Amino acid sequence: MMNRRLPVSLIFTAVLGSLAAQEASSPAASITAAEIKHHIYFLASDALEGRYIASKGYEIAARYSESQFMAAGLKSIVQVEGKPAFLQPVPVQKRTTKSAPVLTIKTPKGEIVLTHGKDFKWLEGDILPCEGKTMDVVFAGFGIHEPAAGWDDFKGLATEGKLLVIWPGAPLKKGKPVLPAVMHKNYSSVLGWSQKLMGMLSLRAAGVFMVTDPSIAALLDRNRAKTETPQVVLANQTAPSFIPWIVTLKSETALALMAGQSGTPKKAGEADAAKIRPGRLAGVTATVAAAFDAEPLPAWNVVGVVEGTDPVLKSEYIAVTAHLDHLNPDSKGAIRNGADDNASGCAGVMEIAEAVARRPFKRSVIFVLFAGEESGLLGSRHFLTECPVPRDKIVADLDLDMIGRTDKAGEADRAHYALDADAVTPEFKKLLIAVNDRTVRWPLKYDRQGVSAGSDNMTFGTFGIPGVFFFSGSHPDYHRATDDADKIDYEKAEALSRLTYELAAELGDKPLPWKK
Ligand SMILES: [Zn+2]
Repeated sequence: MMNRRLPVSLIFTAVLGSLAAQEASSPAASITAAEIKHHIYFLASDALEGRYIASKGYEIAARYSESQFMAAGLKSIVQVEGKPAFLQPVPVQKRTTKSAPVLTIKTPKGEIVLTHGKDFKWLEGDILPCEGKTMDVVFAGFGIHEPAAGWDDFKGLATEGKLLVIWPGAPLKKGKPVLPAVMHKNYSSVLGWSQKLMGMLSLRAAGVFMVTDPSIAALLDRNRAKTETPQVVLANQTAPSFIPWIVTLKSETALALMAGQSGTPKKAGEADAAKIRPGRLAGVTATVAAAFDAEPLPAWNVVGVVEGTDPVLKSEYIAVTAHLDHLNPDSKGAIRNGADDNASGCAGVMEIAEAVARRPFKRSVIFVLFAGEESGLLGSRHFLTECPVPRDKIVADLDLDMIGRTDKAGEADRAHYALDADAVTPEFKKLLIAVNDRTVRWPLKYDRQGVSAGSDNMTFGTFGIPGVFFFSGSHPDYHRATDDADKIDYEKAEALSRLTYELAAELGDKPLPWKK
């Protein structure tokens, strides 16, 4: 329930501020560093306390964004209690562990009961899709999805709703790496786990057992278990999503539950590809029991539309998105204002919305500021499962998550990451390169180069919707109390917002190369 009100004077100052600067002739030229600065200084002020999901500061940010969408002339498209609204409620709850999860594994050789903290550890993801269910257990080999390098452990494997056992390391043939040297080295280190998990996004597994050898276990043991702090989760997501329940499992436990099965390793540290063959573990199932206290929390996505001008193409949508939430104060109580992460992206979206509304495209454009990205992409997951427009009519997602800073790797030319552009189709990346070359010409880096961050574009990607994730990279102020508005490169934020506008214009008015 929204029963708190924010100071009206704040809304008015913001709305008037943006109206004053609406005289440039080209729509893209109306996207200015000055207006972006205005939004960022508001959203990243101490008054908003870091915009943590379900906080008072988040609600103020949502109301501010709503007023910006209204002032720009966007249409509301979400229905709340039968009325059109800009704020889409997101059913979020805070879950506190009452009793730690217990895993019971049935195997043909008998039952194994696993205790949390001793035999396994919950590191990431939602437990909801696993609770109270009996799940098949599948051995997914090394869990490496690198089809371009000739290796895919998931090929032909039934994974939806299953619990996957992932063996550590990377394959060897006659003692030599199967994968290219750098890739092999990466997958053999603890860092390789994040790459493995990225490769599992489309599998819709219920859970993942990351089997740890002693060297990796020691490193992962430093991560806090998810049972130690309350979880903020989607209350209505009980079907497997793209973020599975991720737990670590000791080698000896994994070997015990796979005992007697063909194609499974027989000793810890086994890396011989000839001895590892993914497949369903015959007669092996798992059930999870846990108890939680749940408290509903208020949260909203901010959603607005500029309708297309073409009678046919207006039924298709380009999504322009950013997450509005950030983090709680740090352990010392300092507010983390999240100026770059992600007041900058939200400011960009607001400015692009205003520009598109001045001269609409043939296709419609849907603008969304998401809740709960930092808590596990909650807002985008809810948006796409309870989509206010037909989901298969969304043709692309342009996601701005940090557009105002530069990491160390980009110091020389202020290059920015434009990630995942070829994750769904190579045609999207080609189009992005062509549009940038023709318009803004900002130096872009398309490859991850060790950057493992993900954002709401991944949710679109799992539904087959291509897109791009504009990202500053992990600079020293990332997720710290020092991510402040005075450190933003406003010229860069303007350039990237204009580039996103140009990309939306291309997608909005032209045939889509990947839909021929
Ligand atoms: Zn972010």
